[in-house]
Amino acid sequence: MRLIFLGPPGAGKGTQAKLLTERYGIPQLSTGDMLRTAVAQATEVGMRAKAVMDAGQLVSDEIVNEIVSDRIDSADCARGFILDGYPRTVPQAVALDRMLEEKGLKLDAVIELKVDEAALVRRMENRVTETVAAGGTVRSDDNPEAFRRRLQEYREKTAPLSEHYARTGRLKTVDGMADVHTVTAEIEKILA
Ligand code: ADP
Repeated sequence: MRLIFLGPPGAGKGTQAKLLTERYGIPQLSTGDMLRTAVAQATEVGMRAKAVMDAGQLVSDEIVNEIVSDRIDSADCARGFILDGYPRTVPQAVALDRMLEEKGLKLDAVIELKVDEAALVRRMENRVTETVAAGGTVRSDDNPEAFRRRLQEYREKTAPLSEHYARTGRLKTVDGMADVHTVTAEIEKILA
């Protein structure tokens, strides 16, 4: 099972990907998480990505393409994977198509979570409140300014991907405004 989740920041891609990981026993490949790990470990990639991420902008296609290509080769991806936060630009989608073809792999579905923009800002604010209440560390890009920029990047660079996948008949759309379990049930219907 090889899946891609598309949707704006805060749409619930990570939440759904985690649930499906348990259901299908395949890993969630979140480029955001991988980049945050690289930043925390102060690797070369991490040091190049930090300022860009903090400003809510996209890291270069070259960096993320390489991270994903390497990750897909790991043994735990042999039965499949869920891509969460990648591809995020049309060139990344083209690179992914090429990468999968070279590795002899095929995508099973591209699932887009549709959510109202006003709800996204509220979700980000709730995530911050919950993290603080739990004594956790708030993501350095979960502030109004960086979040606005992330939404703008999404509109300009990621939203056109729906077209890319719709053209080839691979796109499925789910209402991301429904509660978490309803969204999961809708996704499972698509994958059944
Ligand atoms: P979001 O909550 O916006 O979905 P993520 O955790 O997926 O956040 O990503 C956080 C940041 O990491 C992005 O704003 C961007 O800077 C960087 N990033 C993650 N995935 C990609 C990607 N595929 N291409 C470029 N930058 C990325």
